Amino acid sequence: MKTTIVLLGPPGAGKGTQGEKLTDEFGYVRLSTGDMLREAVRNGTELGKKAKEYMDAGALVPNDLIIGLMKEKIKEVDGGVLLDGFTRTVEQADALGEVMKVDLALNFDVPDEELISRLTQRRSCPDCNAVYHLVTKKPKQDGICDKCGGKLYQRDDDKESTVKNRLEVYHKNTQPLIDYYEKKGVLVTIPSTGAIDEIFEKVKKAIQ
Ligand code: AMP
Repeated sequence: MKTTIVLLGPPGAGKGTQGEKLTDEFGYVRLSTGDMLREAVRNGTELGKKAKEYMDAGALVPNDLIIGLMKEKIKEVDGGVLLDGFTRTVEQADALGEVMKVDLALNFDVPDEELISRLTQRRSCPDCNAVYHLVTKKPKQDGICDKCGGKLYQRDDDKESTVKNRLEVYHKNTQPLIDYYEKKGVLVTIPSTGAIDEIFEKVKKAIQ
């Protein structure tokens, strides 16, 4: 089974949802730079203070803040790891390549129109980072996380004005990574519209 997996794809493509399923079923450790940054913002750390304005604008946090953080975390993992939201620029991908060989880059492919609807209807758990959707992946009880009972919220950057900027940033900075990992021979693209479980079947094939 593949050990080091980069989850690629625009915001809202299902990286978090599919990553969660891989974690539950196969025991991968999921490292999400977005989750780490949001926690840093909530805790008011130095990193959080520096990152907040970029995140609120839907822009990328500068590479020098992200790369060091991620390299530290990766070192602590023993076994299969999913990198969710990292790498997002070619510079980050080069930096990751210095410390780790990527076995698989899973590219979740979803058209922009669908992403806008998914993101604006997404609700997240601040405690365990599970994600829901108001129509397609409702929690059992309104506003409450199925997994940990946390109070679901809408991320500030999931509001429509910021979503559009995040998609532009994705196309400009992150989409080039599709070619980058293709050239390395590790890219698998998964068309990611349709039922979550059907997409997961394709993911399971790709990780074998
Ligand atoms: P995400 O939860 O992956 O959608 O990330 C939310 C926000 O965190 C992004 O819009 C960026 O502002 C920031 N962020 C997360 N990961 C990275 C990264 N690898 N490089 C730069 N900024 C990031």
